[in-house]
Amino acid sequence: MTSIDQVLQKIDQNKEKLIARLAEAVEIPSVSGDAAYRKHVFEMADWLKAQLEKLGATAELKPLGKQNLDGQEIELPPVIFSDLKAKTDADKKKTILIYGHFDVQPALKSDGWNSEPFKLVHDEKTGRLYGRGSTDDKGPVIGWLNVIEAHQQVGLDLPVNLKFCFEGMEESSSVGLDDLIRKHKNDFFTGVDAICISDNYWLGTKKPCLTHGLRGITYFKLRISGPQADLHSGVFGGMVHEPMTDLFAVMSKLVTPQGEILVPGINELVAPLTSEEAQRFDNMEYALTDLHSATGKDVAINDDKAKTLMARMRYPSLSLHGVEGAFSAPGAKTVICASVIGKFSIRLVPDMKPEKVISLVQDYVQKEFAKLGSKNTVHIEGEGGAPWYADPNHWNYVAAAKATKKIYGVEPDLTREGGSIPVALTFSEELQKNLLLLPMGRGDDGAHSTNEKIDISNYIEGTKLLGTYLHEVAAAS
Ligand SMILES: [Zn+2]
Repeated sequence: MTSIDQVLQKIDQNKEKLIARLAEAVEIPSVSGDAAYRKHVFEMADWLKAQLEKLGATAELKPLGKQNLDGQEIELPPVIFSDLKAKTDADKKKTILIYGHFDVQPALKSDGWNSEPFKLVHDEKTGRLYGRGSTDDKGPVIGWLNVIEAHQQVGLDLPVNLKFCFEGMEESSSVGLDDLIRKHKNDFFTGVDAICISDNYWLGTKKPCLTHGLRGITYFKLRISGPQADLHSGVFGGMVHEPMTDLFAVMSKLVTPQGEILVPGINELVAPLTSEEAQRFDNMEYALTDLHSATGKDVAINDDKAKTLMARMRYPSLSLHGVEGAFSAPGAKTVICASVIGKFSIRLVPDMKPEKVISLVQDYVQKEFAKLGSKNTVHIEGEGGAPWYADPNHWNYVAAAKATKKIYGVEPDLTREGGSIPVALTFSEELQKNLLLLPMGRGDDGAHSTNEKIDISNYIEGTKLLGTYLHEVAAAS
């Protein structure tokens, strides 16, 4: 009898070939954010389409039209829609939608890479594969291809039907993707039972995790306008209301140095902490030294692990980002700025709605400004996206946890991320299905950074994890 164990064995035997496949993909510099590299994103789409077709899947390139980038009208890279049905009992088997992206962040050797970023380098000593896209997100995307290939090699039918949605603009705000998902939710995306995305990382470097939440964000621009033009403080200082003084006064009322949000009503929007959740944070594999090494210095607000993790994953945070129009060059210019824009954001968690947060902040800022008794004027605008949260007790997660246990021998941590992956929210809302984030790489992979890597063990065991997940999902109910 052929079984998943033979598939796993095959994946081990294929190791060199799987590394070579990743190397081929890394060599295509599919940087989406730079017009000069755009042709390589198309090249990457063609490469991936050919790989999928070789495995017997249908693959269609969906055009997204044009965009304006750096003042040029250029064609957006296509999204790949691909279908691969199980050979037997397809109509009785579940259908899993897989999302991934084949574009990458920019990278130049001169940024501080130790090797050519678009050449996969195998470091024998550390067992790592260095190269742009190795972990974000070419490794995981190719992991799915590796899984299908191994099934075919041992003659085992897929336990589920697969649909793939691979995009080439993820690193550039996924332009056009939301509309495409909405447009096709009643054709290509029908019949999907659950969704899986492998495009994030373990919390640390040792213990695998499943991720079931992402924070949302609201971003604010607070403008204080005063005189018609910049003034000289020697001539006008003391005679006029100064926009920068007003701005600092208002911004100082937003958050304390301990990270406490001062806008009334915000903290009340946060869903109460359950004991099941509190337990998860206690169990998570994390140490404050991980935070210290990530920030290069101990600047932690808390010295408690669970509190620190909750601050990132399950509570909102307010950060001040900058002041547009302020004097920021070296030197001692004695200017009174005519108009300044303070920028800040609030990361959102369930049950915070962006519109509600924006209106609370606007009201509060207007009230605080009114207290100043200034003749300057204030204007505040905000925009944002909602948080995403999935039920970690859903069969999709239970299956992924079992698969993790099988491959890594441990129960995965159930984490949430402090940042955002907007497509997770779009898929969840449009398709109304459970979505799982199933990471392959480690927390220190350096996605978006110099010397991005994936450990060979994460690539190979991660491929096995994706394959085992499909079998566990098929058996789950
Ligand atoms: Zn990514």
